[in-house]
Amino acid sequence: MSSNSKIAALFKRRGSPGLADWTALPLAALLVMATLLLRRGLDFLLSDEPLLLLFVLPILVSAWLGGWRAGLLATVLAALLTDYFLLPPRGEFRIASPIDQLRWAELWVVGIVVSVLMESLHRQRRRLERSRDASRRLASIVESSNDAILGKTLDGTIVAWNAAAERMYGYSASEAVGKGISMLAPPEDGDEMPAILERIKHGQRVERFETRRRRKDGSWIHVALSVSPVLAEDGSVIGASTIARDITAQKKAEEDLRLTAEELRRSNGDLEQFAYVASHDLQEPLRMVTGFVQLLQRRYSTRLDAEADKYIDFAVDGAKRMQTLINDLLAYSRVGTRGRPATTTAADVAFRRALANLCAGIEETAAEVTCGELPVVRADDGQLAQIFQNLVGNALKFRAAAPPKIRVEARRQDDGWLFSVGDNGIGIAPEYRDRIFMIFQRLHARREYPGTGIGLAICKRIVDRHGGRMWVESQAGHGSTFYFTLPD
Ligand code: ADP
Repeated sequence: MSSNSKIAALFKRRGSPGLADWTALPLAALLVMATLLLRRGLDFLLSDEPLLLLFVLPILVSAWLGGWRAGLLATVLAALLTDYFLLPPRGEFRIASPIDQLRWAELWVVGIVVSVLMESLHRQRRRLERSRDASRRLASIVESSNDAILGKTLDGTIVAWNAAAERMYGYSASEAVGKGISMLAPPEDGDEMPAILERIKHGQRVERFETRRRRKDGSWIHVALSVSPVLAEDGSVIGASTIARDITAQKKAEEDLRLTAEELRRSNGDLEQFAYVASHDLQEPLRMVTGFVQLLQRRYSTRLDAEADKYIDFAVDGAKRMQTLINDLLAYSRVGTRGRPATTTAADVAFRRALANLCAGIEETAAEVTCGELPVVRADDGQLAQIFQNLVGNALKFRAAAPPKIRVEARRQDDGWLFSVGDNGIGIAPEYRDRIFMIFQRLHARREYPGTGIGLAICKRIVDRHGGRMWVESQAGHGSTFYFTLPD
């Protein structure tokens, strides 16, 4: 039998040992009758001696096989049959001599005592087997566990070592048992086991202690240990049991994640710095170019031909656009560099500030801007106002034929707040839902709708900086709702 099927067999539900109670009853009857026939067969030898004690044998066997019910049945049958067929006068349910009456009573007593004794023996045997099964099951659980489970004495000598310990540390049970636990972490590597055993001696447990262990082949693994005292019957600590889980893969994944996050932070920092330096330092020469081209336009527009005037107009226009782009890039990079730490901020104050900056546009478009109850959150108030300003500004800009209807709301979530800014504008086709949050990405020509495509990128960057998420739900022609979350 393979070890797996052995374990499976141990876990099968077991019935009580011996014959099932009811199947032993006919057998008890048969045994008593066979004994009666035997006794009657011996009539020529024993003449009138009933030899009632012979019937103790079938009672004993019945009770052994079927417990108290079969024993009792055999006793009753034996008493009736011996009374009728053996004890004089034979053929009647009557016992003439007082000696026979005594013997007959003796048969009853012995029969009942044997039945009761056998039943109690049965029960004891069943109890024993159950506890043996339970121990075997426990041993099989320990053996088939994926965690290393080992036992050691209080001076650190290994006394038990399961299969997972063999796999994890590379030592077989016969190699490990009897050795000191420090072979897995030699003292020169800063073995913490003596300190742990000291706590165990005082009856304390050590839960999920992370450390490194050395395998037989010299390689290291990371393990999480839980060490508990092993108690004797009188409650004194006699050793320690350790459950060790191999967390090497988890540790490696954590380390990789840490390195990636560090790398990401560094490269984000570099990029931010680059965007800032580029946009900031480009402003000065650009201002010079714009200034001189405009000077050229003012001074020479009538002196040159129409073609030259057109070229100068292009140059002025291009320089202005470049200035706008550079300003936007600078604003984008400043989300990180100039952002203030999050403080307790009333979102409706930030919202009203945004509306004040947009009042001309709201009036001009006859927009209806409403808001639900807005909460107090942890945020950079200036940046929160900027999000509202950009989103409501877009809702005004990308309006449909009807006057804009803009609704701002906030809903409580498990770990923060979910804000929404909904409008009845031109909407966004599903395939552009991610693209619009990228820097300088727009869906329309500048002639149709002015802008550079920085507004949503700034919003998303602010939300990211606060640890939240931002997305849009929209259908082209059916308005849009922008969502963002702010964690507590
Ligand atoms: P900009 O407004 O300068 O174009 P944004 O980053 O604010 O830049 O927006 C990017 C694009 O997302 C816009 O060009 C527009 O196509 C789309 N968009 C943003 N807000 C809305 C809105 N409320 N309704 C429809 N489209 C929108």
